[in-house]
Amino acid sequence: MQTFTPLDPAGKTVGMYCCGPTVHDFAHIGNFRTFVFADLVRRYLEYQGFSPVHVMNITDVEDKIIKRVHEAKTSLREFTGKFETAFLDDLTSLNCLQPHHTPRATEHVPQMVDLIGKLMSRGIAYQAPDKSVYFSIKNYQGCGCGYGQLVKLNFDEMRPDKRVASDEYEKESAADFALWKARVSEDGEVFWPSPWGEGRPGWHIECSAMSMNLLGPSFDLHLGGEDLIFPHHEDEIAQSEGATGQPFVKHWMHGAHLLVEGKKMSKSLGNYFTLRDLLAKGFSGREIRYLLLTAHYRESFNFTLDGLCGARVALSRIDECLGKLRQTAGNTSAAPEPTVLARIIESLDEDLNISGAWGVVFEWVRELNRALAAHELMPEQAAAALAAWVQMDTIFGIGAKADTEMPAELLVLLDDRNAARKAKDFKRADSIRDELKSQGWVIDDTPTGARLKKL
Ligand SMILES: [Zn+2]
Repeated sequence: MQTFTPLDPAGKTVGMYCCGPTVHDFAHIGNFRTFVFADLVRRYLEYQGFSPVHVMNITDVEDKIIKRVHEAKTSLREFTGKFETAFLDDLTSLNCLQPHHTPRATEHVPQMVDLIGKLMSRGIAYQAPDKSVYFSIKNYQGCGCGYGQLVKLNFDEMRPDKRVASDEYEKESAADFALWKARVSEDGEVFWPSPWGEGRPGWHIECSAMSMNLLGPSFDLHLGGEDLIFPHHEDEIAQSEGATGQPFVKHWMHGAHLLVEGKKMSKSLGNYFTLRDLLAKGFSGREIRYLLLTAHYRESFNFTLDGLCGARVALSRIDECLGKLRQTAGNTSAAPEPTVLARIIESLDEDLNISGAWGVVFEWVRELNRALAAHELMPEQAAAALAAWVQMDTIFGIGAKADTEMPAELLVLLDDRNAARKAKDFKRADSIRDELKSQGWVIDDTPTGARLKKL
């Protein structure tokens, strides 16, 4: 076990930055794996008595957004605003605590210009003939700094002064990257003034500027999905350390990839799900959160609809046990039962071994069920178990089952109705609709599929 020591001399405040969403579309379930993971880290730090300052930026200007704004013939703010709101609502659906700061890139352009200015004055950045400003990897290395702290790069194949203008690029094209992109006609009205002419910031400089603006030049934790390691995080380190001469981040934590139904998510494979798609299928945010939280963050995870059904069963086991504990405890109150909590902490202290922690929870539930069935559990013991659950759930954030959640058998009916419609058996489809109505639920056919709503 590695003891976590924050940079704060008082050992209390923990600066924590997680790369936020690029608000050009609804976020998909792979994105949310990272945000649920960041939420777990934050909750665990809080449980351990630290005071994390959780920053998650909103990337509301970068290449993809500019392209979509141009296609949609709308304004940047109008385009990104609706996806930003949707994203924050989705975080709430997943019971993620709202980050303390959610800075928007477009509101921190002066800080980015300032940072680029520092790199220029240190000779680490230069303006190219295309008027854009680039980061010089060669000059950065010349200052004794290391490019490639997170990934191994082959510098022999790098030609000096080879440049890459786009925000995303492959490891093979490691090259001087754009800090400030000179205004081109496709940018439309999206541009800001700078000492190097009108333009817009590159994606990487956004995170360096916003994180250091809120957390200082050096901070404790930087999180993100592993797909961001290169070039995004590598470039964040280079820009920040190049400008300040100080170590940027103490610990990096990267969440592994999410596969869906065994494959990389893709719209053409039909395994591409936004959170909203899954909610529309009748799954709850709670079930989705639980499933995302079953695997260790550094292991790639196969997310499946069967897995979600399994999550429903697993949660109902916990819910049922808690219900019986409440009956047994009555009005009795007690301090939390310490043993189960200690075992969960022991597990999470091992690099956030969440699957181990769930193993402890379900073993505990089994043991409680056995004792309850045998009438061996005293009201004080039931109350102590309930109090322990309240404590551990501040970390898991699973919460209680909402009474607006539909019973599993209704979801089966909805599924049958979809199948009947597909088979053009409209008589059967209609009879299922009536059956659901008699139980107080109406079917809402949305573009992403049928969804049940309470009457
Ligand atoms: Zn970032």
